[in-house]
This record gives sequence, C-alpha cells and structure tokens, in this order.
Amino acid sequence: MRTDDFFIEQLSEGFFELFEDGSFQKMDPSRLDSAGDDPNIGKFTSALGIDPLLICHYGKNIVVDPGLGWGLDHKSSYRNTSNVATNLDIFGLKREDIDLVILTHLHYDHVAGCSFINSEFKTEATFPNAKYIVHKDEWDFALTRINKPSILPGAKYDLDELYKLVAQKRIEFIENDVHAPSRGITLIKSGGHTPGHLVLKMTSRNKIAYFLGDLIPTEYHLNHYSMKHVDTDPLESKKAKTILLKRALQEKAVLYFYHSLYKKSGKLSRDRYKKYVLLDV
Ligand SMILES: [Zn+2]
Repeated sequence: MRTDDFFIEQLSEGFFELFEDGSFQKMDPSRLDSAGDDPNIGKFTSALGIDPLLICHYGKNIVVDPGLGWGLDHKSSYRNTSNVATNLDIFGLKREDIDLVILTHLHYDHVAGCSFINSEFKTEATFPNAKYIVHKDEWDFALTRINKPSILPGAKYDLDELYKLVAQKRIEFIENDVHAPSRGITLIKSGGHTPGHLVLKMTSRNKIAYFLGDLIPTEYHLNHYSMKHVDTDPLESKKAKTILLKRALQEKAVLYFYHSLYKKSGKLSRDRYKKYVLLDV
C-alpha cells in the first residue's frame, strides 16, 4: 500500500507447516489447493503463512515481526529461499537499512528472524542498525515460560538469541499501553493473545491501517474466535478484537495479517449479514 507518506509491504517468507512438536517446515503452496485431500494437513500439522511487514515513511524503514528468519543461519540447508532479509532486496533495501524492528509479541514464529548464526557461529542481529521494540509485560511473561511446555506448538518461547540482543542493548522495553515510536505509528497494548501483545496502527494523511499480530492472525479470525486454546487470556482477547474491529470499520482501515493463507490484507467492511469481509485495496 502506498499513501502520500507511507509505503507498506508484506515480506512474505511463504507457506509453512507447523508440526505438533513445534517445528516448522516450508511447504509447497500448491498443496493448499488440495488441502482437503491431504491427510497430513490439519491432522498432524497446521498450514500457515509467515508475513512480516515493511513500513517506510519519513525516511525511516521499519520491520514488524521479522518471521522465522528461514535460511539465514550459516550452513542452513535452506539458503536459497525467501526470507525477511532477501525480500528487502525487492524494495532496494538491505538489512543495514532497517531503523526499527517492532515485535508484537515474543512467540518463536514472530521473532526468530531477529537474529541469525553467522559464519563464526555467533549470534548476529539480522538488522544491525535497528532498535528492537518489545513490551515489558511480554518480556516478563516470556521469562516465566522458559523451560515450560507451551500450550500449543504455535505458542512457543525460545529466548536464547534474544538474551544476546538484550545484552547488546538492542532491545527497548516499552511500558505504556500506548506508545508512538515514530510519526504516524502507534503501538497499542492489546494483551489477550499474550500479556504484552501489541497491535500496530499506521495513520497517514488519508489512510489508516492496522497490523494485528496474533490477535487476529488471519482473515478467517475476523468472524471466528477460534484462538481460545492459544490465547493466554481469551476473554481479554475477544474484548480487544471487538473494540479494534469496530474502530477499524469506522475508520475504513486496511488490515494486514501475519498468518493468512489466502487473503493477506484488505479494507475492512461488513456484508449484509453483518459479517466482516475484506475488500481489495
Ligand atoms: Zn503467537
């Protein structure tokens, strides 16, 4: 999406299967066409997209939830793949050009791409010149979950690499419920999915857009509250979703989804049955 003052794009890592043990594997998107006949999808795994967001405005480059960092590690067997770093090329940007990284929450599938293992087998920040932003409540909660089994595979915390970024003072912990890290960008603590979960509002002169993280991970979740088993506080989650969607509808906002398989963004509207639908932008 381009407005007078914003350029917003999704840096898709592609489609993945999430297995019961919490591991991810890249999947061939053509399998989605025949997902109904595929005995594996839906039974032992879930299929999901991973779509980090790139925002460029007023000379600043921002990445939201840098994904799995698929193939970034030295000697990874998946070097020839698209990930948050290789996708920046498409827009003429390098890892070094990113000024700010916003993390909606610290589940593994949203933050693994913050760092990678370099050729000296050391952790290196994927975006060496960026400040990384996390809500303090999220960090405090994540620390209590270490070495505890996650409720579901998609709700895993793995902070080993993040500790190093904290030690290097690359992570800024915010404490307010509303925070504006940059002009036109507001971070709102929604809680629900996790205690420190953030959603992002982008306000330009003529358009409003939201990135809802895992509060509403796909277009399917606009009308179905099926996250009960993954959200740490389902009631708070439901409340936050209701308020945010109402607001976004009034504002005729564009929504971006992180895990969608099919429709990854669109303008929020309602059909005659009062169901939320996404219109093409
Ligand atoms: Zn999550």
